[in-house]
Amino acid sequence: MAERSTYAELHQRSLADREAYWAEQAQRIEWHTPFTRVCNNDNPPFTRWFEGGTTNLCHNAVDRHVATRGDQNALVWVSTEVGQERAYSYRELQAEVMGMAAILQAQGVKQGDRVLIYMPMIPEAVFAMLACTRIGAVHSVVFGGFASVSLASRIEDAEPVMVVSADAGSRAGKVVPYKPLLDEALKLSAHKVPQVLMVNRGLAPMPMTEGRDLDYTALREQHRGAQVPVVWLDSTAISYTIYTSGTTGRPKGVQRDTGGYAVALAASMEQIFLGQPGETYFSTSDIGWVVGHSYIVYGPLLHGMATILYEGLPIRGMNGEPDAAIWWSLVEKYKVTAMFSAPTAVRVLKKQDPAALKKHDLSSLRALFLAGEPLDEPTASWISGALGVPIIDNYWQTESGWPILTIANGVERKESRFGSPGIAMPGYDVKLLDEQTGEELTQPHQKGVVVIEGPLPPGFMQTVWRDDARFVNTYWKSVPGKMVYSTFDWGIRDEEGYYFILGRTDDVINVAGHRLGTREIEESLSSHAAVAEVAVVGVADQLKGQVAMAFAVLKDTARAATPEGALQLEGELMKVVESQLGAVARPARVRFVTALPKTRSGKMLRRVIQAVCEGREAGDLTTIEDPSTVQQIKDLVAVR
Ligand code: AMP
Repeated sequence: MAERSTYAELHQRSLADREAYWAEQAQRIEWHTPFTRVCNNDNPPFTRWFEGGTTNLCHNAVDRHVATRGDQNALVWVSTEVGQERAYSYRELQAEVMGMAAILQAQGVKQGDRVLIYMPMIPEAVFAMLACTRIGAVHSVVFGGFASVSLASRIEDAEPVMVVSADAGSRAGKVVPYKPLLDEALKLSAHKVPQVLMVNRGLAPMPMTEGRDLDYTALREQHRGAQVPVVWLDSTAISYTIYTSGTTGRPKGVQRDTGGYAVALAASMEQIFLGQPGETYFSTSDIGWVVGHSYIVYGPLLHGMATILYEGLPIRGMNGEPDAAIWWSLVEKYKVTAMFSAPTAVRVLKKQDPAALKKHDLSSLRALFLAGEPLDEPTASWISGALGVPIIDNYWQTESGWPILTIANGVERKESRFGSPGIAMPGYDVKLLDEQTGEELTQPHQKGVVVIEGPLPPGFMQTVWRDDARFVNTYWKSVPGKMVYSTFDWGIRDEEGYYFILGRTDDVINVAGHRLGTREIEESLSSHAAVAEVAVVGVADQLKGQVAMAFAVLKDTARAATPEGALQLEGELMKVVESQLGAVARPARVRFVTALPKTRSGKMLRRVIQAVCEGREAGDLTTIEDPSTVQQIKDLVAVR
């Protein structure tokens, strides 16, 4: 197999001999019908992988393993929020998934129908995802931390035939009722959802709407023991959509295929994540994010591993007591070999008693993988010293579905470099281009836009859900004269191909590893009657990487004329964002100004605002129509 070659050879082959390389990787999964064409790129940028082949994600993630490892743990649920822990073997997981699939089918859900999943981190969420892929329904998981307006816009775009939800989530022991947010979203949405399947955890009241809402517990009982065969799907059939933020206020539905995704994840589990079948994988992400899709649910299960689904904070124990060692206790208990988290979580742990890391036997752990935001050197050094295992930074996006840049230690051991997520992964032809001219930057240490030359590898998004034009215009036309996929990240590369990511080229911000569009937050703030205009920027933060800062111009300046008035209005505006978008999107501060920095042609200078907030030079101010606007912001941020 190609794995015996050096990584450089393998990567080279994955590009130069693309078809042979991926045909080989495709043997990692089971096909019902073999594919007849590996890569169809006749109509770029719409690449179709493994055409002619039929397969099924759920079959490969669950059924395939029942014969050989039926009694082995598949899904381990640990909730420090409600103090519960439950393990499902592959056989039990299959039964649960078939039960859920039977409910969906009995309610008329068919292949191609969308099912929107708005759930906390409970096993039923995973059952619902796998039940959808089992019967060919397209799932669209919406992060449970989003509130009614965010949820409504996603419901409108996905047009689901069913929503699966639960009475409540829980955060730091505080119940967060989901049903009122969901009911509000269903009311706001122009698309009317005919059926809502509700899981009752007994945490919050769950008022049911007659004729629309269904109780999972009762239906599950009805379908106990149900046998639901998998539906064999074309490799290119849509498995799911997941919404992500971009430059506009309207989130994009990232659409993924079936066969390509399964192959890419299966390969990544061994080449990148060093996992072996029968071992345990622990990703601390949430199923509402792409990491949760790829590396809580599908990746580990495709590879025959047990996966831990963790509901709770990293610093709270099973009885609600402070416990900074909770994750490490799970590593010991379940002999976790690969763990995946985000730099923000590590920064939280770093503030705790260092003894927490010495309490448990962590000898099973091979590596800790961190992604989602830049990994700063102090955080990386601290955790590496504390754990004594390699810390593997990996860079990717919702769009890619699996790492673009990292180190494939499963192919060949290579050193990691602080500050760099690593080198290009198999199938990724990564380049740096000059933003203005589109010219490729071939010299080391030149700063450019990180782009990927098509065809994109398996697992990458197929298109924007129901909007091919948006896919092409957003991602493939941003660099002049070149049809390449833009990541919208700045980067540089050193002599040996290690990339360094320097932040986004667009208005996307990254708060504690959560990707947010500043435009969505601006739109939400603008919905308050007092606001005339508002700018939101991402500002560097020691703990969260970035936080959102808002600067608003009021219709009536009298409202913020006194410090008390300003504080009250700031609180009101934060509540608006919290109730519409969710607490994750709430700005750290909302400050009031009489005007915002703009060019003479009226373009808002968000980068100037950001620079001022971060105490950097704001650059050339001659393009600004009214330089006093910059001074106002300087004065405000000077008094924190
Ligand atoms: P998301 O789609 O939520 O995964 O966010 C993707 C964005 O997060 C990327 O475009 C980067 O801006 C940032 N990002 C993700 N992983 C890393 C990393 N390892 N280093 C630096 N930035 C990252």
